[in-house]
Amino acid sequence: MNKRYIGRFAPSPSGSLHIGSMTSAFVSYFEAKHNNGLWKLRIDDIDEERSKKNYAEEIIITLEKFALIPDEIYFQSEHIKDYQNYLNELSEKDTYFCDCSRKTLQQLPQGLAGSIYNQTCLEKNLKYGAMRLKADEMKLDFYDQHYGLIKIPSSHKSDFIIKRKEGFSYIFCCVIDDYLQKITHVVRGSDLTYSTPQQIFIQKKLGIISPKYMHHPIFSLNGKKISKSDQGEPVIPENRFEILMQILKSLHQNIPKNIRNYNDLLTQALTFWDNSKVSKSFDIAMD
Ligand code: GLU
Repeated sequence: MNKRYIGRFAPSPSGSLHIGSMTSAFVSYFEAKHNNGLWKLRIDDIDEERSKKNYAEEIIITLEKFALIPDEIYFQSEHIKDYQNYLNELSEKDTYFCDCSRKTLQQLPQGLAGSIYNQTCLEKNLKYGAMRLKADEMKLDFYDQHYGLIKIPSSHKSDFIIKRKEGFSYIFCCVIDDYLQKITHVVRGSDLTYSTPQQIFIQKKLGIISPKYMHHPIFSLNGKKISKSDQGEPVIPENRFEILMQILKSLHQNIPKNIRNYNDLLTQALTFWDNSKVSKSFDIAMD
């Protein structure tokens, strides 16, 4: 029997939703509902410095105003114990502590998924610091449901951080969250494509079945992803009709004709959702 499709949208509450994050919300929603699935919301709020409680509430309300109603709401901040329990499941042989300074790390070559660590601390047997997962056995290629086979040169392989002194890394938490929320399909922006092999590798180490991954093009301005802290202006729910129109156009969907109201537009967009029309480029230039 096929498992029921369970998708998700996982915004970080470091600001209001903007056109870029709304695109992820809609694409993940259309994919889930087109497959008669569930669509869950995860608030990525463990990064306390960047997360603000009022943004989490605002995000939930904004989605509701766009008639995107999640089947479950999950807060990362309520799962710290789970992260620790799963971290304990990893064999000590697979991890080591690293006390390299930020400055040292900044001088490392940058790979597609962050800096490429030179294993300075591998043999030091430290008892404190940031915890790295040894990546020798990590497979870098994976199949993306939108872009096809993603190939990453092996020179980008790096032992990566799963826990810092301040807390767990996004890479690690996300794996546990997707598992706990029983996510079968991860749909998210192409900026996260290259973190996927690391997540698949953690799943393998924990004996967890990997969900399917689908990345979609993201909005960029002057070649840079628009972000909450940067150029991403908050979406105004009163303009939801125009916003959905803009997103559908940018995703090359058939725009239903003669529709004047938002709920009809959303219903039609869902009925005629066709992911094969979405561009295979990694970003959509904003003008
Ligand atoms: N919270 C992450 C972000 O807002 C997305 C995480 C994910 O979809 O895996 O960029």
